[in-house]
Amino acid sequence: MLILTCPCCGVTAEETEFHGGGEAHLKRFGPGSDDADYESYMFSRKNPRGVHFERWRHVYGCGKWFLAARCTMTLEVFATYPAQTLEPPADVITAIKSKRPEWEGFV
Ligand SMILES: [Zn+2]
Repeated sequence: MLILTCPCCGVTAEETEFHGGGEAHLKRFGPGSDDADYESYMFSRKNPRGVHFERWRHVYGCGKWFLAARCTMTLEVFATYPAQTLEPPADVITAIKSKRPEWEGFV
């Protein structure tokens, strides 16, 4: 079972209260960019076995978007943080590395 905490309103609930929005921290490429960059932005997504940074929306609560760092194997959630964050915060990376030192090169 995946349990998430919304960083906007502080509610902790099962994933059925939220809706996944795909991979977080995508670099956007729009019209005018070269074809390879635009194609990767539109169609290429990571599907890691381990830490994944994702977008979530609290659909049955405050309705706001946020980001989560979780393990795709164990469903362990390392942290949730505001959606306005462009890169994973340093404290989140530190928390992941302290809990999973074997992922040093993957985060
Ligand atoms: Zn919320």
